Amino acid sequence: MTHPLFPPTREAALARLREFAPCAGARYAQSRNTDAGPDAPSAASRLSPYLRRRLITEEELVSAVLSEHSLQAAEKFVQEVLWRTYWKGWLELRPSVWARFLATRDRTSLADARALADAEQGRTGIEGFDDWARELRETGYLHNHVRMWFASIWIFTLRLPWALGADFFLRHLIDADPASNTLSWRWVAGLQTAGKTYLATQENIARYTQGRFAPKGLARAATALTEAPLEPVRPVRALTAADPATPALLLVTDVACRINLRHQNLARVDSDCGNRERQCGG
Ligand SMILES: Cc1cc2nc3c(=O)[nH]c(=O)nc-3n(C[C@H](O)[C@H](O)[C@H](O)COP(=O)(O)OP(=O)(O)OC[C@H]3O[C@@H](n4cnc5c(N)ncnc54)[C@H](O)[C@@H]3O)c2cc1C
Repeated sequence: MTHPLFPPTREAALARLREFAPCAGARYAQSRNTDAGPDAPSAASRLSPYLRRRLITEEELVSAVLSEHSLQAAEKFVQEVLWRTYWKGWLELRPSVWARFLATRDRTSLADARALADAEQGRTGIEGFDDWARELRETGYLHNHVRMWFASIWIFTLRLPWALGADFFLRHLIDADPASNTLSWRWVAGLQTAGKTYLATQENIARYTQGRFAPKGLARAATALTEAPLEPVRPVRALTAADPATPALLLVTDVACRINLRHQNLARVDSDCGNRERQCGG
């Protein structure tokens, strides 16, 4: 299986990191929120699929970046990597949040099933949103800011259940991660930081898509969703070191094998990124 944007090898991960590291300072901090489109170079690293599949580790990422920049210069990037770690730890301490997401997803039935199909297929008529739904299905990747806009429009403009949106992402993102995905959707909905929502606006989208999209008719307010109190934090499980002399099994899941997407135009983004980042200088 292969993927033109994310060749699933450690060599590809290391090559991407080598190209990105010089740009992890000022350029990342200033431009990481801009999404110029799937076929354009991005200030973001696009390393998440490799992190998710453990072809590269957070430690390797941060070490490579700090060998090129001071911590102060690369602080924004290091913070983002640590968000991933933080979300994983947060969910590990509260496994009932994952169980609650699954239960909510599985018991949610919509009176209007077509509304869900239209959102997933990109047939809502909302500029940008429809393009991103197709982009997700075709490439398996969305820019972070796009994920925020998409989730916000899904919940507050289309008024679709957040758990079905999180499920749509889980099924299609090549970096789909139970912690980062579920907790980010909860954050947009106002569940994660109770009462604090994220509202996508036409102005913000127009600015950070460089005028490609300026959707009209978006929700003007985002009232936080509510839920029953969460269960108390669970102590972390004690880990015992594996005994190399004991026979072991390698568990390969269907998620681990799901690197089979195609998007012709994205193939050239790799080489564009290489040229751009050589000129970056951080
Ligand atoms: C609704 C929603 C759903 C998301 N679902 C996922 C998901 O399933 N899997 C996933 O890995 N990330 C998820 N994210 C977080 C973030 O969007 C991606 O990690 C990021 O877009 C990956 O692109 P990148 O590698 O170019 O990021 P960069 O900007 O280059 O960041 C470097 C690394 O830091 C981490 N990171 C960056 N931003 C975040 C963030 N907001 N939260 C947690 N970690 C972050 C990622 O590991 C990323 O590879 C989600 C965000 C939102 C708003």
